This record gives sequence, C-alpha cells and structure tokens, in this order.
Amino acid sequence: MKGIESILENNQKWVETKRAEDPDFFNRLANGQKPKYLFIGCSDSRVPASAITGTGPGEMFVHRNIANLVINTDFNLLSVLQYAVEVLGVEDIMVVGHYGCGGVAAAAANKQYGLIDGWLTNIRDVIRMHEMEFLRIKDEEVRLRRLVELNVIEQVRNLSKTSIIQNARKGSKPPRLHGLVYDIKEGLLKDLEVEDNLITELEHIYGTEAMRHAEEVLEEQVGQELSKDHAPLMNPQNQDQQNSKNHKEQKNSLSKAN
Ligand SMILES: [Zn+2]
Repeated sequence: MKGIESILENNQKWVETKRAEDPDFFNRLANGQKPKYLFIGCSDSRVPASAITGTGPGEMFVHRNIANLVINTDFNLLSVLQYAVEVLGVEDIMVVGHYGCGGVAAAAANKQYGLIDGWLTNIRDVIRMHEMEFLRIKDEEVRLRRLVELNVIEQVRNLSKTSIIQNARKGSKPPRLHGLVYDIKEGLLKDLEVEDNLITELEHIYGTEAMRHAEEVLEEQVGQELSKDHAPLMNPQNQDQQNSKNHKEQKNSLSKAN
C-alpha cells in the first residue's frame, strides 16, 4: 500500500468496473437513497458493514463508533437514527458487535486510557449490570466474548429507550430491532434474537407513557385496596381534594380553638 495514491487509483478502477457492469449505476444512485437497513457497528477495520452483509451502495445506512454503542446523549447517533427511521423509513435496525472487540476488551481491563474512558464507561455499566454472570466465567476469552454479546443486547435495549423508536412503534411500520455479533475468525454473523422481550419488559420504566404503565403495574401488584391508599400520590386531582379536605379540617380545629 502506497498511501492515499493507492486509494485514488483503486477508486478509478472501481468506477471503471462499475461502469462496465452497469452503465446507469452512478446516475441511479445520484437520484437518491432508499435503504432498508440501518447498521450500527464498531469502527474496527475488520468489520466492513457492506462486505459482511452483502449489501451494495444505496442499500444500507451506516453508523459506526468504538464498540457499537447507543448512547442517549450522542447527537451523532441520534441524528442518524432519527433520519433513518423518520425520513428513510428503514425496516430493520441492527446493532452489530464483534468478537475480539478492542473497545470491549479495554473496558474490561483494569487500566486508564484517558479521554476514551468516558466512552468506555458505558461498557463498564454493562459489566456492572451483569457482574455475577461475568465473574463466573473463568476463561478470559470466553468472558470477553460474552461481554461482546451482553454489550450488543444492552445497546439494542438503549435503542428501544429512545423516543425515536418509541414513536415509530406507534406508527404502522415500526422498524424491527436486531442484535448481531460478527465472528472475525469465521466471517459469520450470529443473531442474538434479542428484540421482543427487551422492549416489553422495560416499557413501564422507559416508555413515553411510563407513569400510566407504572400505575397499572402497581394496581396489579398490590391490589385494589393498597392502590386506593396510594391514590392521592398518583393522581393530582385526588391530591388537591385531599389538600382542601386537610385545609378545612385545619380551619375547623382552629375555629374550635378560638
Ligand atoms: Zn470493536
């Protein structure tokens, strides 16, 4: 490899090959994109999004960062997600981790790296949430492979926490969410089949109508009697009535005292 010259040379050759195969190829792409997929993967050079998924130009919208994280304050990721869902109308969103991920290994190591530590904290949060399972695995490689999977699962969960996905779910064609892991040694993608239970089990906390769900869960769990006792706390109207009742009682006792 000579550097940037070889990149430009490769590009010239690619244009020639594509034009020879399909004279209309570039004109068609210039007219716009309508990709069906959003790929959220690691920046690792061994995980080329198009090559491993067999997709060509125009078929997949791509976002990559270190260790394929979905962070709810990352405007880069959120902008990509919103555009993909609301404008492009992608049908499938995949978070793609990979075994042998340097970012995941760095997060699991007992070291400080500087600026990137803030980013890696998100993976350390995944370790904390699954600490018992993580510590029980004695073999380091197996442990890191599992952490790669747990990290992907958690990032799919993070997708479902965003208002972008929650609002899309109220529409007629919400995108399906997937968690995949790419095995660099084998070249194969594995589906972790994470979607369904992840969304429903967290709805009462992260849902856009979370409090309504929380009340339903509470009523179910503690029964009608207890929920009546809690009613003033859950319902502002009841709270007002309770306040005015207390106020009247207070006034009565004051007038009696006089
Ligand atoms: Zn990686």
